[in-house]
Amino acid sequence: MRCLKFFITTAIDYPSSKPHLGHAYEKICADTIARWHRLLGHKVYFSTGLDEHGKKIERIAKKNDKPPQQFVEEMSVHFRSLCRVLSISFDDFVRTTEVRHEKAVLEIFQRIDEKGDVYNSLYEGSYCVECETYYSREELVENNCPVHEKPVELVKEDSYFFRMGKYQKQLIDFLEKNPSHLLPKERRNEILERLKVPLNDLSISRTTFGWGIRLPNNKKHIFYVWVDALTNYLTTVGFPKKRFEQWWPADMHLIGRDIVWHHTVIWWSLLMSAGLPLPKVFSHGFINLASGKMSKSKGNVVDPIALSEKYGSDVVRYFLLREIPFGEDGVFDEQKIIERNNFELANELGNLHYRVLSLIEKNCAGTIPSAATDNVLTKKLELEAFRSNMEKYQLHFALATVMAFVKECNKYVNEKEPWKLSGAAQEKVLYSLADSLRIIAILLSPFLPKTGEKISSSLGVKTASFKDVKFDLLPARTKVSKGEILFKKIEDRL
Ligand SMILES: [Zn+2]
Repeated sequence: MRCLKFFITTAIDYPSSKPHLGHAYEKICADTIARWHRLLGHKVYFSTGLDEHGKKIERIAKKNDKPPQQFVEEMSVHFRSLCRVLSISFDDFVRTTEVRHEKAVLEIFQRIDEKGDVYNSLYEGSYCVECETYYSREELVENNCPVHEKPVELVKEDSYFFRMGKYQKQLIDFLEKNPSHLLPKERRNEILERLKVPLNDLSISRTTFGWGIRLPNNKKHIFYVWVDALTNYLTTVGFPKKRFEQWWPADMHLIGRDIVWHHTVIWWSLLMSAGLPLPKVFSHGFINLASGKMSKSKGNVVDPIALSEKYGSDVVRYFLLREIPFGEDGVFDEQKIIERNNFELANELGNLHYRVLSLIEKNCAGTIPSAATDNVLTKKLELEAFRSNMEKYQLHFALATVMAFVKECNKYVNEKEPWKLSGAAQEKVLYSLADSLRIIAILLSPFLPKTGEKISSSLGVKTASFKDVKFDLLPARTKVSKGEILFKKIEDRL
Protein backbone atom coordinates (compact mmCIF):
# COMPACT_ATOMS: atom_id res chain seq x y z
CA MET A 1 0.00 0.00 0.00
CA ARG A 2 1.25 3.48 -0.85
CA CYS A 3 2.13 5.56 2.16
CA LEU A 4 0.46 8.97 2.00
CA LYS A 5 2.59 12.01 2.71
CA PHE A 6 1.41 14.95 4.77
CA PHE A 7 3.42 18.16 4.87
CA ILE A 8 2.20 20.73 7.39
CA THR A 9 3.67 24.10 8.32
CA THR A 10 2.92 26.81 10.84
CA ALA A 11 3.54 30.41 9.89
CA ILE A 12 7.04 31.40 10.90
CA ASP A 13 6.96 33.76 13.86
CA TYR A 14 8.35 37.25 13.91
CA PRO A 15 10.70 37.30 16.91
CA SER A 16 10.40 40.99 17.75
CA SER A 17 9.33 39.98 21.25
CA LYS A 18 8.89 36.79 23.27
CA PRO A 19 6.24 34.29 22.16
CA HIS A 20 2.64 34.89 23.25
CA LEU A 21 -0.39 32.63 23.48
CA GLY A 22 -1.29 33.13 19.80
CA HIS A 23 2.04 31.60 18.75
CA ALA A 24 1.43 28.71 21.14
CA TYR A 25 -2.10 28.12 19.84
CA GLU A 26 -1.06 27.82 16.21
CA LYS A 27 1.76 25.42 17.07
CA ILE A 28 -0.50 23.27 19.28
CA CYS A 29 -3.12 22.96 16.51
CA ALA A 30 -0.49 22.12 13.89
CA ASP A 31 1.12 19.62 16.24
CA THR A 32 -2.22 17.90 16.89
CA ILE A 33 -2.87 17.59 13.16
CA ALA A 34 0.67 16.33 12.51
CA ARG A 35 0.34 13.73 15.27
CA TRP A 36 -3.06 12.66 13.91
CA HIS A 37 -1.57 11.97 10.50
CA ARG A 38 1.31 10.05 12.08
CA LEU A 39 -1.28 8.02 13.97
CA LEU A 40 -2.87 7.16 10.63
CA GLY A 41 0.51 5.89 9.44
CA HIS A 42 1.14 8.75 7.03
CA LYS A 43 4.62 10.01 6.28
CA VAL A 44 4.55 13.41 8.01
CA TYR A 45 6.77 16.45 7.71
CA PHE A 46 6.04 19.29 10.13
CA SER A 47 7.90 22.57 10.01
CA THR A 48 7.86 25.72 12.09
CA GLY A 49 10.39 28.49 12.53
CA LEU A 50 11.23 32.18 12.56
CA ASP A 51 10.94 35.09 10.17
CA GLU A 52 14.01 37.03 11.23
CA HIS A 53 14.51 39.80 8.68
CA GLY A 54 12.92 43.21 8.15
CA LYS A 55 12.89 46.78 9.21
CA LYS A 56 11.12 46.18 12.49
CA ILE A 57 13.69 43.65 13.71
CA GLU A 58 16.45 46.01 12.61
CA ARG A 59 14.88 48.82 14.67
CA ILE A 60 14.22 46.76 17.78
CA ALA A 61 17.72 45.26 17.72
CA LYS A 62 19.16 48.76 17.53
CA LYS A 63 17.02 49.90 20.43
CA ASN A 64 18.46 46.98 22.42
CA ASP A 65 22.04 47.90 21.34
CA LYS A 66 22.49 44.59 19.58
CA PRO A 67 23.37 43.61 16.03
CA PRO A 68 20.20 42.14 14.46
CA GLN A 69 21.79 38.70 14.08
CA GLN A 70 22.58 38.55 17.78
CA PHE A 71 19.12 39.83 18.65
CA VAL A 72 17.31 37.13 16.65
CA GLU A 73 19.74 34.52 17.92
CA GLU A 74 18.72 35.32 21.48
CA MET A 75 15.02 35.52 20.65
CA SER A 76 15.11 32.16 18.89
CA VAL A 77 15.91 30.49 22.21
CA HIS A 78 12.48 31.51 23.58
CA PHE A 79 10.62 30.16 20.56
CA ARG A 80 12.48 26.89 20.72
CA SER A 81 11.75 26.49 24.39
CA LEU A 82 8.07 27.23 23.70
CA CYS A 83 8.08 24.23 21.36
CA ARG A 84 9.82 22.05 23.91
CA VAL A 85 7.51 23.02 26.76
CA LEU A 86 4.36 22.38 24.67
CA SER A 87 5.54 19.04 23.17
CA ILE A 88 5.57 20.44 19.62
CA SER A 89 6.82 17.54 17.49
CA PHE A 90 8.28 19.54 14.59
CA ASP A 91 10.69 18.00 12.09
CA ASP A 92 12.35 21.28 11.20
CA PHE A 93 12.77 24.68 12.77
CA VAL A 94 13.61 26.92 9.86
CA ARG A 95 15.11 30.39 10.28
CA THR A 96 15.22 32.90 7.45
CA THR A 97 18.77 33.96 8.36
CA GLU A 98 20.08 30.51 7.43
CA VAL A 99 22.26 30.05 4.34
CA ARG A 100 19.97 27.31 2.97
CA HIS A 101 17.08 29.76 3.05
CA GLU A 102 18.93 32.45 1.11
CA LYS A 103 19.57 29.86 -1.60
CA ALA A 104 15.86 29.10 -1.86
CA VAL A 105 14.91 32.80 -2.07
CA LEU A 106 17.49 33.46 -4.79
CA GLU A 107 16.22 30.49 -6.77
CA ILE A 108 12.62 31.72 -6.61
CA PHE A 109 13.75 35.18 -7.72
CA GLN A 110 15.71 33.73 -10.61
CA ARG A 111 12.69 31.73 -11.75
CA ILE A 112 10.25 34.65 -11.71
CA ASP A 113 12.86 36.90 -13.32
CA GLU A 114 13.47 34.40 -16.14
CA LYS A 115 9.72 34.26 -16.65
CA GLY A 116 9.83 38.02 -17.37
CA ASP A 117 7.81 38.82 -14.25
CA VAL A 118 10.27 41.27 -12.63
CA TYR A 119 10.80 44.94 -13.52
CA ASN A 120 12.37 48.02 -11.96
CA SER A 121 10.35 51.12 -11.15
CA LEU A 122 9.61 53.67 -8.47
CA TYR A 123 7.33 52.85 -5.63
CA GLU A 124 5.43 55.33 -3.54
CA GLY A 125 2.99 54.28 -0.91
CA SER A 126 1.69 54.16 2.64
CA TYR A 127 3.73 51.66 4.56
CA CYS A 128 3.10 50.09 7.95
CA VAL A 129 6.43 49.11 9.50
CA GLU A 130 4.80 46.67 11.90
CA CYS A 131 3.05 44.78 9.09
CA GLU A 132 5.94 45.30 6.66
CA THR A 133 3.16 46.00 4.21
CA TYR A 134 2.14 48.79 1.88
CA TYR A 135 -1.52 49.75 2.05
CA SER A 136 -3.61 51.34 -0.64
CA ARG A 137 -5.62 54.44 0.24
CA GLU A 138 -8.85 52.41 0.34
CA GLU A 139 -7.37 49.96 2.83
CA LEU A 140 -6.31 52.61 5.37
CA VAL A 141 -8.62 53.45 8.25
CA GLU A 142 -8.44 57.22 8.76
CA ASN A 143 -4.86 57.18 7.53
CA ASN A 144 -3.98 54.40 9.97
CA CYS A 145 -2.88 50.83 9.38
CA PRO A 146 -6.07 48.69 9.42
CA VAL A 147 -4.32 46.07 11.57
CA HIS A 148 -2.33 48.17 14.04
CA GLU A 149 -4.49 51.31 14.04
CA LYS A 150 -1.32 53.37 13.98
CA PRO A 151 -0.24 56.00 11.43
CA VAL A 152 1.45 54.67 8.32
CA GLU A 153 4.61 56.15 6.78
CA LEU A 154 4.72 57.58 3.30
CA VAL A 155 7.56 55.72 1.61
CA LYS A 156 9.02 56.48 -1.81
CA GLU A 157 11.75 54.23 -3.11
CA ASP A 158 13.35 52.65 -6.11
CA SER A 159 11.99 49.12 -6.22
CA TYR A 160 11.77 45.91 -8.17
CA PHE A 161 8.27 44.74 -8.92
CA PHE A 162 6.68 41.35 -9.46
CA ARG A 163 3.94 41.23 -12.11
CA MET A 164 1.35 39.93 -9.66
CA GLY A 165 -1.50 41.61 -11.52
CA LYS A 166 -0.85 39.27 -14.43
CA TYR A 167 -1.99 36.33 -12.28
CA GLN A 168 -5.31 37.76 -11.15
CA LYS A 169 -7.49 35.69 -13.44
CA GLN A 170 -5.47 32.56 -12.82
CA LEU A 171 -5.83 33.07 -9.05
CA ILE A 172 -9.59 33.50 -9.26
CA ASP A 173 -9.94 30.43 -11.51
CA PHE A 174 -7.80 28.39 -9.18
CA LEU A 175 -9.75 29.36 -6.05
CA GLU A 176 -13.05 28.66 -7.75
CA LYS A 177 -11.97 25.25 -9.00
CA ASN A 178 -10.12 24.21 -5.83
CA PRO A 179 -12.30 25.22 -2.88
CA SER A 180 -10.41 22.97 -0.45
CA HIS A 181 -7.20 24.91 -1.05
CA LEU A 182 -8.38 27.68 1.22
CA LEU A 183 -10.43 26.90 4.34
CA PRO A 184 -12.62 27.83 6.16
CA LYS A 185 -14.81 28.93 3.26
CA GLU A 186 -15.42 32.40 4.77
CA ARG A 187 -11.75 33.17 4.11
CA ARG A 188 -12.06 32.03 0.51
CA ASN A 189 -15.06 34.28 -0.02
CA GLU A 190 -13.13 37.23 1.41
CA ILE A 191 -10.22 36.68 -0.96
CA LEU A 192 -12.50 36.26 -3.97
CA GLU A 193 -14.23 39.47 -2.96
CA ARG A 194 -10.91 41.33 -2.76
CA LEU A 195 -9.92 39.94 -6.15
CA LYS A 196 -12.86 41.70 -7.78
CA VAL A 197 -10.86 44.93 -7.99
CA PRO A 198 -7.76 45.06 -10.22
CA LEU A 199 -4.76 43.39 -8.60
CA ASN A 200 -1.65 45.60 -8.38
CA ASP A 201 1.85 44.41 -9.05
CA LEU A 202 3.88 43.72 -5.94
CA SER A 203 6.91 45.70 -4.87
CA ILE A 204 9.41 42.99 -3.92
CA SER A 205 12.49 44.96 -2.93
CA ARG A 206 13.43 47.65 -0.44
CA THR A 207 16.32 50.09 -0.20
CA THR A 208 15.36 51.92 3.00
CA PHE A 209 16.95 49.45 5.39
CA GLY A 210 19.59 46.74 5.30
CA TRP A 211 18.48 43.73 7.34
CA GLY A 212 17.51 41.11 4.79
CA ILE A 213 18.57 39.09 1.75
CA ARG A 214 20.13 41.14 -1.05
CA LEU A 215 18.93 40.93 -4.62
CA PRO A 216 21.54 39.17 -6.79
CA ASN A 217 21.35 41.73 -9.60
CA ASN A 218 21.36 44.89 -7.46
CA LYS A 219 22.93 44.67 -4.03
CA LYS A 220 21.43 47.98 -2.90
CA HIS A 221 18.08 46.21 -2.78
CA ILE A 222 16.95 43.67 -0.24
CA PHE A 223 13.98 41.36 -0.64
CA TYR A 224 10.61 42.47 0.66
CA VAL A 225 10.23 40.51 3.86
CA TRP A 226 7.11 38.62 2.71
CA VAL A 227 8.83 37.24 -0.39
CA ASP A 228 11.66 36.21 1.91
CA ALA A 229 9.40 34.73 4.61
CA LEU A 230 6.96 32.82 2.40
CA THR A 231 9.81 30.99 0.71
CA ASN A 232 10.65 29.29 4.03
CA TYR A 233 8.02 26.68 3.17
CA LEU A 234 10.21 25.58 0.28
CA THR A 235 13.47 25.95 2.20
CA THR A 236 12.34 23.50 4.85
CA VAL A 237 11.88 20.66 2.33
CA GLY A 238 15.24 21.27 0.67
CA PHE A 239 14.31 23.47 -2.29
CA PRO A 240 15.88 23.90 -4.83
CA LYS A 241 17.40 20.45 -4.37
CA LYS A 242 15.35 17.82 -6.15
CA ARG A 243 14.30 16.15 -2.90
CA PHE A 244 11.81 18.96 -2.16
CA GLU A 245 9.49 17.33 -4.70
CA GLN A 246 8.72 14.41 -2.40
CA TRP A 247 6.97 16.84 -0.01
CA TRP A 248 5.89 19.81 -2.12
CA PRO A 249 3.20 21.17 -2.29
CA ALA A 250 2.37 21.57 1.40
CA ASP A 251 -0.86 19.87 2.45
CA MET A 252 -1.53 22.56 5.02
CA HIS A 253 -0.12 25.99 5.71
CA LEU A 254 -1.74 26.67 9.06
CA ILE A 255 -1.90 30.44 9.53
CA GLY A 256 -3.78 33.24 11.28
CA ARG A 257 -6.60 34.89 9.40
CA ASP A 258 -4.72 38.21 9.14
CA ILE A 259 -2.20 36.77 6.69
CA VAL A 260 -4.47 34.83 4.35
CA TRP A 261 -3.92 37.35 1.53
CA HIS A 262 -0.14 36.91 1.74
CA HIS A 263 -0.44 33.11 1.72
CA THR A 264 -2.85 32.92 -1.17
CA VAL A 265 -2.63 35.89 -3.53
CA ILE A 266 1.04 36.75 -3.04
CA TRP A 267 2.42 33.28 -2.39
CA TRP A 268 0.34 31.46 -5.00
CA SER A 269 1.08 34.00 -7.74
CA LEU A 270 4.81 33.77 -7.00
CA LEU A 271 4.56 29.98 -7.23
CA MET A 272 2.55 30.16 -10.45
CA SER A 273 5.27 32.34 -11.91
CA ALA A 274 8.01 30.00 -10.65
CA GLY A 275 6.18 27.01 -12.15
CA LEU A 276 5.51 25.25 -8.85
CA PRO A 277 2.31 23.56 -7.61
CA LEU A 278 0.18 25.43 -5.07
CA PRO A 279 -0.08 24.49 -1.37
CA LYS A 280 -3.29 24.32 0.69
CA VAL A 281 -4.01 27.01 3.27
CA PHE A 282 -6.07 26.72 6.45
CA SER A 283 -6.73 29.75 8.59
CA HIS A 284 -7.35 29.51 12.32
CA GLY A 285 -8.93 32.22 14.44
CA PHE A 286 -7.48 34.54 17.06
CA ILE A 287 -7.53 34.23 20.81
CA ASN A 288 -8.92 37.28 22.54
CA LEU A 289 -9.43 38.13 26.16
CA ALA A 290 -12.89 38.68 27.57
CA SER A 291 -11.82 42.32 27.84
CA GLY A 292 -10.85 42.49 24.15
CA LYS A 293 -7.72 42.10 22.10
CA MET A 294 -4.46 40.90 23.61
CA SER A 295 -1.74 43.43 22.90
CA LYS A 296 1.69 44.34 24.13
CA SER A 297 0.75 47.97 24.58
CA LYS A 298 -2.12 47.01 26.89
CA GLY A 299 0.26 44.79 28.85
CA ASN A 300 -2.23 41.90 28.85
CA VAL A 301 -0.28 39.42 26.77
CA VAL A 302 -0.46 35.86 28.11
CA ASP A 303 2.87 34.05 28.42
CA PRO A 304 2.27 30.46 27.25
CA ILE A 305 5.44 29.13 28.89
CA ALA A 306 4.45 30.47 32.32
CA LEU A 307 0.92 29.13 31.77
CA SER A 308 2.25 25.64 30.97
CA GLU A 309 4.50 25.70 34.01
CA LYS A 310 1.53 26.61 36.17
CA TYR A 311 -1.03 24.10 34.86
CA GLY A 312 0.95 21.56 32.81
CA SER A 313 1.30 21.63 29.05
CA ASP A 314 -1.40 19.02 28.38
CA VAL A 315 -3.92 21.05 30.40
CA VAL A 316 -3.13 24.15 28.34
CA ARG A 317 -3.35 22.12 25.13
CA TYR A 318 -6.66 20.62 26.25
CA PHE A 319 -8.16 24.00 27.09
CA LEU A 320 -7.20 25.57 23.75
CA LEU A 321 -8.19 22.61 21.59
CA ARG A 322 -11.47 21.93 23.41
CA GLU A 323 -12.57 25.49 24.07
CA ILE A 324 -11.96 27.16 20.72
CA PRO A 325 -13.82 25.91 17.62
CA PHE A 326 -10.99 25.32 15.17
CA GLY A 327 -11.04 28.00 12.49
CA GLU A 328 -12.95 30.50 14.62
CA ASP A 329 -11.91 33.11 17.15
CA GLY A 330 -11.93 32.17 20.81
CA VAL A 331 -11.71 33.74 24.23
CA PHE A 332 -8.95 33.03 26.70
CA ASP A 333 -10.16 32.79 30.25
CA GLU A 334 -7.89 31.37 32.95
CA GLN A 335 -10.85 30.45 35.14
CA LYS A 336 -12.04 28.18 32.34
CA ILE A 337 -8.69 26.37 32.28
CA ILE A 338 -9.25 25.57 35.95
CA GLU A 339 -12.83 24.46 35.31
CA ARG A 340 -11.95 22.23 32.39
CA ASN A 341 -9.04 20.80 34.34
CA ASN A 342 -11.20 20.04 37.37
CA PHE A 343 -14.43 18.84 35.78
CA GLU A 344 -13.20 17.13 32.63
CA LEU A 345 -9.56 16.14 33.08
CA ALA A 346 -9.35 15.44 36.84
CA ASN A 347 -12.96 14.35 37.61
CA GLU A 348 -13.56 12.35 34.46
CA LEU A 349 -10.36 11.21 32.76
CA GLY A 350 -8.01 11.17 35.75
CA ASN A 351 -10.65 9.61 37.97
CA LEU A 352 -11.47 6.87 35.47
CA HIS A 353 -7.81 6.00 35.09
CA TYR A 354 -7.21 5.94 38.83
CA ARG A 355 -10.28 3.85 39.62
CA VAL A 356 -9.69 1.25 36.94
CA LEU A 357 -6.03 0.73 37.73
CA SER A 358 -6.68 0.63 41.48
CA LEU A 359 -9.36 -2.00 40.97
CA ILE A 360 -7.08 -4.12 38.80
CA GLU A 361 -4.26 -3.82 41.33
CA LYS A 362 -6.54 -4.80 44.17
CA ASN A 363 -8.60 -7.53 42.54
CA CYS A 364 -6.42 -9.00 39.78
CA ALA A 365 -2.98 -8.83 41.39
CA GLY A 366 -2.05 -5.96 39.07
CA THR A 367 -2.42 -7.86 35.80
CA ILE A 368 -4.97 -7.49 33.02
CA PRO A 369 -7.64 -10.20 33.37
CA SER A 370 -8.66 -12.37 30.44
CA ALA A 371 -12.08 -11.45 29.00
CA ALA A 372 -13.83 -9.82 26.05
CA THR A 373 -14.96 -6.21 26.13
CA ASP A 374 -18.57 -5.66 27.09
CA ASN A 375 -20.80 -4.67 24.17
CA VAL A 376 -22.51 -2.18 26.42
CA LEU A 377 -19.29 -0.17 26.36
CA THR A 378 -18.09 -0.77 22.81
CA LYS A 379 -21.34 0.71 21.51
CA LYS A 380 -20.65 3.96 23.32
CA LEU A 381 -17.54 4.88 21.37
CA GLU A 382 -18.46 7.14 18.45
CA LEU A 383 -15.46 6.31 16.37
CA GLU A 384 -16.94 7.36 13.04
CA ALA A 385 -17.83 10.78 14.42
CA PHE A 386 -14.32 11.11 15.79
CA ARG A 387 -12.71 10.20 12.53
CA SER A 388 -14.90 12.38 10.36
CA ASN A 389 -14.39 15.36 12.67
CA MET A 390 -10.63 14.87 12.48
CA GLU A 391 -10.81 14.68 8.71
CA LYS A 392 -12.79 17.93 8.61
CA TYR A 393 -10.38 19.46 11.15
CA GLN A 394 -13.18 19.93 13.64
CA LEU A 395 -10.65 19.27 16.37
CA HIS A 396 -12.86 20.54 19.19
CA PHE A 397 -15.67 18.14 18.24
CA ALA A 398 -13.30 15.20 17.85
CA LEU A 399 -11.87 15.82 21.30
CA ALA A 400 -15.38 16.13 22.72
CA THR A 401 -16.20 12.68 21.27
CA VAL A 402 -13.32 11.10 23.19
CA MET A 403 -14.30 12.85 26.38
CA ALA A 404 -17.91 11.70 25.96
CA PHE A 405 -16.62 8.12 25.84
CA VAL A 406 -14.60 8.76 29.02
CA LYS A 407 -17.81 9.86 30.70
CA GLU A 408 -19.59 6.71 29.50
CA CYS A 409 -16.82 4.60 31.00
CA ASN A 410 -17.26 6.29 34.36
CA LYS A 411 -20.99 5.71 34.16
CA TYR A 412 -20.29 2.05 33.42
CA VAL A 413 -18.13 1.78 36.56
CA ASN A 414 -20.89 3.32 38.66
CA GLU A 415 -23.56 1.05 37.23
CA LYS A 416 -21.59 -2.18 37.38
CA GLU A 417 -19.96 -1.54 40.77
CA PRO A 418 -17.11 -3.97 40.01
CA TRP A 419 -15.93 -3.90 43.65
CA LYS A 420 -19.08 -5.83 44.51
CA LEU A 421 -18.51 -8.42 41.79
CA SER A 422 -16.20 -11.42 41.69
CA GLY A 423 -14.83 -14.02 39.31
CA ALA A 424 -15.62 -13.87 35.58
CA ALA A 425 -18.24 -11.12 36.01
CA GLN A 426 -15.72 -8.84 37.68
CA GLU A 427 -12.99 -9.73 35.19
CA LYS A 428 -15.24 -8.83 32.28
CA VAL A 429 -15.98 -5.38 33.69
CA LEU A 430 -12.35 -4.65 34.52
CA TYR A 431 -11.06 -5.92 31.19
CA SER A 432 -13.65 -3.80 29.37
CA LEU A 433 -12.55 -0.70 31.22
CA ALA A 434 -8.82 -1.29 30.80
CA ASP A 435 -9.26 -1.97 27.07
CA SER A 436 -11.33 1.19 26.76
CA LEU A 437 -8.62 3.17 28.50
CA ARG A 438 -6.11 1.81 25.98
CA ILE A 439 -8.29 3.14 23.16
CA ILE A 440 -8.82 6.47 24.90
CA ALA A 441 -5.03 6.85 25.17
CA ILE A 442 -4.62 6.35 21.41
CA LEU A 443 -7.38 8.81 20.51
CA LEU A 444 -6.12 11.42 22.95
CA SER A 445 -2.48 11.13 21.92
CA PRO A 446 -2.58 13.77 19.14
CA PHE A 447 -4.18 16.26 21.55
CA LEU A 448 -2.53 15.36 24.84
CA PRO A 449 0.68 13.53 23.96
CA LYS A 450 2.02 13.25 27.51
CA THR A 451 -1.27 11.96 28.89
CA GLY A 452 -1.70 9.44 26.08
CA GLU A 453 1.78 8.14 26.83
CA LYS A 454 1.15 7.93 30.57
CA ILE A 455 -2.11 5.98 30.18
CA SER A 456 -0.58 3.57 27.67
CA SER A 457 2.48 2.88 29.74
CA SER A 458 0.41 2.36 32.88
CA LEU A 459 -1.41 -0.39 30.95
CA GLY A 460 1.90 -1.86 29.83
CA VAL A 461 1.32 -1.05 26.14
CA LYS A 462 2.84 1.39 23.69
CA THR A 463 0.72 4.21 22.24
CA ALA A 464 0.12 2.55 18.93
CA SER A 465 -1.53 3.51 15.69
CA PHE A 466 -5.09 4.31 14.73
CA LYS A 467 -5.37 0.73 13.44
CA ASP A 468 -5.28 -0.39 17.07
CA VAL A 469 -8.50 1.43 17.86
CA LYS A 470 -10.37 -1.88 18.00
CA PHE A 471 -11.68 -3.52 21.11
CA ASP A 472 -10.19 -6.64 22.67
CA LEU A 473 -6.61 -5.95 21.63
CA LEU A 474 -5.28 -5.43 25.16
CA PRO A 475 -3.31 -8.60 25.98
CA ALA A 476 -4.35 -10.44 29.11
CA ARG A 477 -1.83 -10.92 31.92
CA THR A 478 -0.04 -7.65 31.09
CA LYS A 479 1.30 -6.06 34.24
CA VAL A 480 -0.19 -2.64 35.02
CA SER A 481 1.27 0.16 37.12
CA LYS A 482 -0.96 2.96 38.26
CA GLY A 483 1.74 5.62 38.35
CA GLU A 484 1.08 9.16 39.47
CA ILE A 485 -2.33 10.81 39.33
CA LEU A 486 -2.92 12.18 35.80
CA PHE A 487 -4.51 15.50 36.75
CA LYS A 488 -4.71 17.20 40.11
CA LYS A 489 -7.72 19.29 40.97
CA ILE A 490 -6.92 22.96 41.31
CA GLU A 491 -8.62 24.18 44.44
CA ASP A 492 -8.02 27.90 44.42
CA ARG A 493 -10.20 30.19 42.41
CA LEU A 494 -8.57 33.06 40.58
ZN1 LIG B 1 0.23 47.43 10.56
